[in-house]
Amino acid sequence: MTIYSHILLATDFSSGSDKVAEKAAQLAKATGANLSIIHVVEYMGFTYTPEFPAQEDLTMEKDLVKSANKRLQELADQLNVSHTLVSVGSPKHEICNMAKESGVDIIIVGSHGRHGLQLLLGSTANGVLHMAPCDVLAVHMEE
Ligand code: AMP
Repeated sequence: MTIYSHILLATDFSSGSDKVAEKAAQLAKATGANLSIIHVVEYMGFTYTPEFPAQEDLTMEKDLVKSANKRLQELADQLNVSHTLVSVGSPKHEICNMAKESGVDIIIVGSHGRHGLQLLLGSTANGVLHMAPCDVLAVHMEE
């Protein structure tokens, strides 16, 4: 039995995220684990009532999901990964939900991403660490 059987890489496509992806692929290779990748579209829209979103918000969300799917597919092709997911919402919640639903045993994030270096550990990395149902590896990212 290997130490990990299902690794989840969370990517925000920020600069330095290639290094995180590379580490995830290396860990998958070394352990023989399956590798999945998730990207969460954070767009909340400008509509005040989420029950009745404006058409512009729906169109914008659709466009963002489409472009995220394209970028994620490129990354998946590079890393030879077949299981990818683009979801919409709060990154830490979506990442941890996917981990629960897909039987992931380790989540890999960058120590920082788009939310910057203002925290010791970025806000998403920190949130995932606290909510995850499994191990979490935060790959160190340079300033
Ligand atoms: P942050 O804490 O937001 O600065 O980002 C830390 C790490 O969390 C990033 O390097 C990614 O691995 C992950 N992450 C942040 N935002 C997202 C997102 N929208 N979708 C997937 N992963 C994310």
